[in-house]
Amino acid sequence: MKTFVYKLRPTPAQAAILTETAETCRHLYNHALIERKTAYQERGESIGFARQCASLPALKRESPYLPRVHSQVLQDVLHRVDRTFQAFFRRVNAGEKPGYPRFKGKGWYDSFTYPQWGNGVKLDNRRLILSKIGALRLHNDRPLEGMPKTCTIVRKADGWYASIACEVAPSPLPPTGKAVGIDVGLESFATLSDGTPIVNPRSYRAAERKLKQAQRRLSRRVKGSNRRRKARELLAKAHLKVKRARQDFAHKTARTLVNDYDHIAVEQLNIRGMVRNHPLAKAIADAGWGLFLRILIAKAASAGRVVVEVNPAGTSQMCAQCGESVPKRLAVRWHACPSCGCALHRDHNAALNILKRGGGAAFGEALPSGGPENREPCTL
Ligand SMILES: [Zn+2]
Repeated sequence: MKTFVYKLRPTPAQAAILTETAETCRHLYNHALIERKTAYQERGESIGFARQCASLPALKRESPYLPRVHSQVLQDVLHRVDRTFQAFFRRVNAGEKPGYPRFKGKGWYDSFTYPQWGNGVKLDNRRLILSKIGALRLHNDRPLEGMPKTCTIVRKADGWYASIACEVAPSPLPPTGKAVGIDVGLESFATLSDGTPIVNPRSYRAAERKLKQAQRRLSRRVKGSNRRRKARELLAKAHLKVKRARQDFAHKTARTLVNDYDHIAVEQLNIRGMVRNHPLAKAIADAGWGLFLRILIAKAASAGRVVVEVNPAGTSQMCAQCGESVPKRLAVRWHACPSCGCALHRDHNAALNILKRGGGAAFGEALPSGGPENREPCTL
C-alpha cells in the first residue's frame, strides 16, 4: 500500500461542509462510545460493530445531520470505535494499563474516511468528487499510482488534505550484493555498519528551533487573548513543519538505503517501552526511528529488499571483531577492545554487531581493521 496526499482547495462553502461532516462524525463517535459504555456498565452487555451498524438507519431518521454524510463514512466511524475498543480489550488482557476509550472533544476529531474507492469517492479531471460534499480542487497533481482503495479527508493546521491509499504492485530493484547494519544514534540519527553517520538534516533542526520559539511565545501570551489564539495557530503550524521535515528525511534516507543494499539489518525497537523506561527517551522518540522503520520496511517490501529486525541487547558492549564483552557507560563514545585491539566509534561497532546478528555474514562483509575514522557525516 502506498499513500498519496493531496492538499484540497475547497471553496468556503465546501470548507464549511467538510467541517460539518467532521463534526457529525465526532458526534456519532461519541454516541457509539457512550452506547457501548452504558450497555456494559448497566447490563454487562457488550455491543459489537455489527449491532451498532444495524442501528444506524434508525439513528439517521432521528438526526438532521447524519443523513448529510455518506453512509460508508458513518460506518467507518463505527469501525474506528470498534478498533478503539478492541485495542482497549487487548491492553486489558495483556495486563497493561488499559486507558478507557475517550470521548472526542471539539477540535479533537479531524478526519473521516471513505473506506471504499468508487463508493462515494472518485477522481474526475483533477477533482476529487466526494459524495454529499462536492467536487474539490486538488492543490498538487502528482499522479496516483496503482489501484486506489480508500480515501481519508484530514484537517491539518494549514487546511484540508485528502490521503488516498493505493495498492501498488511491487517493483523489484536489481541486486547490489551488499548488506548493511544500522544502529540508532543519539549524536546522529543513525550509524551504518561501514561507519557512515546519518545526521538529521539542517531543515529539520531549523524547524525544531522554530517550534521551540513558538512554544515559548504561546506561554507568554495572556490566557483567553486574541494574541494567544494566534500564537496557538502558529504553534500548530510549527508542529506540522517539524513533522513534515521528519517525514521527508525518513523517506529520503529509506530510499537511499533501499537503493544501495539488498539486505538491511536494523534494531528492533519498542518505542513505547523505550519512552517509558529509557532515560534518553526523548532523544530516541525525537529521532523518529519508529517512523523511519515503518517507511523503510514498506519501501524494502516494494523493492524486493530484505529488512531483518534484530534484538539490539548488548550490541554496543560486544566487540564486533572478536565477540568479547567490552562494558562501557553511555558517555563513552569509543569502543576499544583490549583483547583484539579493535578500535571503533561506539555506534559503528554497534552497527556491525547488528549486521552480524541480522545475517550479514552471508554477504561477506569485511570488518574494518580498526583505527580512528575520519568520515564526513552523511546528511543526505
Ligand atoms: Zn575485540
